[in-house]
Amino acid sequence: MTMAIHPYNALMDITARPDVVFDRGEGSWLWDDTGKRYLDFIQGWAVNCLGHAPAAVAEALAAQAKRLLTPSPAYYNDTSLKLAKALIAHSSFDQVFFTNSGAEANEGAIKLARKYGALHRNGAYEIITFEGGFHGRTLATMSASGKKAFEPLFEPKVPGFRKALLNDLGSVSRLISDKTVAVMLEPIQGEAGVWPATDQFLQQLREMTTAHGLLLIFDEIQTGMGRTGKLFHYEHAGIAPDIMTLGKGIGGGVPLAALLATSRAACFEHGDQGGTFNGNPLMCAAGLAVLDQVAKPDFLKSTAETGLFLESELQRLSARHGLGEVRGRGLLLALDLKLPVGPAIVAQAFAHGLLLNAPRPDTLRFMPALNVTREEISQMIEALDAILIKAGAARLVA
Ligand code: PLP
Repeated sequence: MTMAIHPYNALMDITARPDVVFDRGEGSWLWDDTGKRYLDFIQGWAVNCLGHAPAAVAEALAAQAKRLLTPSPAYYNDTSLKLAKALIAHSSFDQVFFTNSGAEANEGAIKLARKYGALHRNGAYEIITFEGGFHGRTLATMSASGKKAFEPLFEPKVPGFRKALLNDLGSVSRLISDKTVAVMLEPIQGEAGVWPATDQFLQQLREMTTAHGLLLIFDEIQTGMGRTGKLFHYEHAGIAPDIMTLGKGIGGGVPLAALLATSRAACFEHGDQGGTFNGNPLMCAAGLAVLDQVAKPDFLKSTAETGLFLESELQRLSARHGLGEVRGRGLLLALDLKLPVGPAIVAQAFAHGLLLNAPRPDTLRFMPALNVTREEISQMIEALDAILIKAGAARLVA
């Protein structure tokens, strides 16, 4: 007997999703299949750095698709070489390995650090990561993450990760031993609720890792590609990590990520790393189109200014409603709601055509397109203001 399959049930039920199907996007806006329009301050979880369906990415993909999709990862292709060279030219790194997701880039960073330990540090393999950190959903990256909800899942975890506290140098130094090979962190913990490492902590970590001969790994999957107003977050602290991972924004909406390393750290030998789609020219063409726009000094300046505008608007909103602090940098910001009303606000915003994210029950996170306009920010603030007024009134009535 064949059973009728509900259209949504064709997909594995891995997360709660609203009963809405999106079918079109443009800039800061998404449309569902009934024609309803939504102002998007999630942007695929900080992915669409140029907004939905940017013409530059669409054109680059179409041109590349007509020319060469993939020759095999065992051959060079001109598009991935161009993107690797451009990333190197714009950063402090010497070599790149392209991947298809952020987790895969971090998995590669972990392998690279272990390889470095095998070659240069008597087999040291432990990596110090941080409570609250998020590095992906493969087994090794879940093990590296410091997300409480991951702890009971998929035991036994991959061993070799010891957790320190963000912005607490002593908690890092206490974990360093002969087995340690690297320290790995997000410069702003995004999934945990936008908790920034201070520039001073990042500088001290650089000094400490250098003094102990350890690798410093920055997971810039959320903070990289202009999100914080500089092309890469490490520039704010005036330091250079040994390894960096990029994802999300680098493809402007398509699955592209990257592992970058200095020549000292880039120690993979043949057979250590690879993957069928890694460095395929189609995704790299999108990456080139994105980098071409995002790396422009004027674009970064405007992102930083727009970030300050959003920050000040959120601060005004917070003061008006007696809410908490605004955290983050550039266009990766969070508003502390002081109460666990985030999911209710997100649901109400959704009903009113506004897409917001609550990474924690008491926190809203804002990660719009980097080219979001001030008018769109004002529209979002106005809608959120109305929801907060209603929520306040409801509390008075209750
Ligand atoms: N690292 C960070 C800091 C992230 O924010 C994410 C995704 O949210 C990942 C890694 C995992 O990336 P992906 O979902 O592309 O595997």
